[in-house]
Amino acid sequence: MTTQEHTNPKSKDFIRTIIANDLSSGKHSTVTTRFPPEPNGFLHIGHAKSICLNFGVASENNGTCHLRFDDTNPSKEEEAYVEAIKTDVAWLGFNWGDNLFFASNYFEKLYSYAVELIKMGKAYVCDLSPDEMRTYRGTLTEPGKDSPYRNRSAEENLTLFEQMKAGEFADGSRVLRAKIDMSSGNINMRDPVLYRILRATHHRTGDTWCIYPMYDYTHCLSDAIEAITHSLCTLEFADHRPLYDWVLDTLKTPCHPQQIEFARLNLTYTVMSKRKLLQLVNEEYVSGWDDPRMLTISGLRRRGYTPASIRTFCDTIGLAKRESRVDMAVLENCIRNDLNDNAPRAMAVLKPLKVLITNYPEDQEEELVIANHPKNPEMGSRTVPFCREIYIEQDDFLEDPPKKFFRLAPGREVRLRAAYLVTCDEVIKDENGNIKELHCSYDPASRGGSAPDGRKVKGTLHWVSARHALQAEVRLYDRLFNIENPEIDKDVDFKTHLNPNSLEVLSECMLEPNLSTATSSDHFQFERLGYFCPDSKDSLPGKPVFNHTVTLRDTWDKVLKK
Ligand code: ATP
Ligand code: MG
Repeated sequence: MTTQEHTNPKSKDFIRTIIANDLSSGKHSTVTTRFPPEPNGFLHIGHAKSICLNFGVASENNGTCHLRFDDTNPSKEEEAYVEAIKTDVAWLGFNWGDNLFFASNYFEKLYSYAVELIKMGKAYVCDLSPDEMRTYRGTLTEPGKDSPYRNRSAEENLTLFEQMKAGEFADGSRVLRAKIDMSSGNINMRDPVLYRILRATHHRTGDTWCIYPMYDYTHCLSDAIEAITHSLCTLEFADHRPLYDWVLDTLKTPCHPQQIEFARLNLTYTVMSKRKLLQLVNEEYVSGWDDPRMLTISGLRRRGYTPASIRTFCDTIGLAKRESRVDMAVLENCIRNDLNDNAPRAMAVLKPLKVLITNYPEDQEEELVIANHPKNPEMGSRTVPFCREIYIEQDDFLEDPPKKFFRLAPGREVRLRAAYLVTCDEVIKDENGNIKELHCSYDPASRGGSAPDGRKVKGTLHWVSARHALQAEVRLYDRLFNIENPEIDKDVDFKTHLNPNSLEVLSECMLEPNLSTATSSDHFQFERLGYFCPDSKDSLPGKPVFNHTVTLRDTWDKVLKK
């Protein structure tokens, strides 16, 4: 799939307006953007916003978008994350073509730029300890103090920097700093660190380096090296923009990309930072990065979200310059709308109650034809077996029902979807008084579900033939956190807000037999229950395990959660 296939004309947000102006004024003739993940975790729905933006504006303008791994912190980064990120970006429907880059590919270049800065008197080796450096840096209200090492000669700095690279000093004992302004109102400009000493094996460069460039220094230069035109990032980098510009201006790089900030995505009922998601994984609150309750791309995929629904979501929320928290219901609506149109229907009984149809011949079986979609005949139909014993949902029967209960009750008649009208004659109980089974009788003349005499039957139940049922595990999910903003109080661990009931496993569900061949790329509406898909990890051939993707309606559904 190419990015071109799913670009639609969008109303122009502030970034698209800037880009359109740059093209019409001749400032740029092409658009080159980049998505720059750090391979220290899996991508989440927030990253999807950045991916859709960067790949989107590039393709809308026939430009290119680079996938660049920002791999400057070997102690936290892994090759496995690189592969997972590539899988996720491609799955979302975006194609970086030949434009796959790694900041680590620029380590040599970055080193020579640093040497240049030293020669210009714009960078120096500093021996302050991290604690001392913090004290010297000052605060938001007080200026910093110059480091005693600030006025080393370029020659001395060059020698020391070379020695740093050669591994002659201990980790953390020295750094290379930019020489900017210790009294700047912007703390990022108070002689920020450019290089640190760190003996850690890098996932690509191995042990070649024991000094690593810092993010702020690496990012702007990587953008410049790749001739990025518009460097789109989240708001927290606005205060770093003067440094971004300082590095490129001081080095007079031939290309000086424009950094533009937009608000990051926050969603209700979840946390979004990789550091926090990693805690949930490591401390086993979830089964992994791709746990279907996680708002990671891989979690959403496993949950049953489609790439189109995530792209629609990113279009829907738009771009803003102020942070806000988007309601999870907006995301759920996007997948619900997609699946409502595109998911075939199926019948599944999650909490089964046996029904014996006493006047249906014991050795008889029949195949009923049911449309796969109520509004789309192109989706065809399927046959579903029917016999004397069926399962209905426990919730669809009440012994002593209120007036408006239109489901089954003693003496009441209901429609079995696409099958027959049945009336409940007898309730069979076990020795403890629990309902074990219902005895019903059917109207043989009502095949297909309507009575020949036109009598009105309000309730329609889904059902599954007991003889043919596929017994399966179905996993129901609720929100991972039980408050809208789990990070609301900085003094309270966000994990105290985890919802202890976010996963419910139902292992005795009875499904229509057609579902035995379902695979993880399939999606279904289980009639009257919600949308479901086979789990990509735990399903076996012929024995799928189903995940609940989303409820049928925009309410945290009462049918499922009793
Ligand atoms: P996190 O805060 O989750 O650790 P990050 O910013 O450290 O995320 P990166 O891998 O550095 O993660 O992010 C890659 C790109 O994705 C960056 O350009 C970043 O601005 C963007 N991004 C990250 N989180 C969000 C978000 N919630 N909304 C929009 N863009 C995001
Ligand atoms: Mg980051």
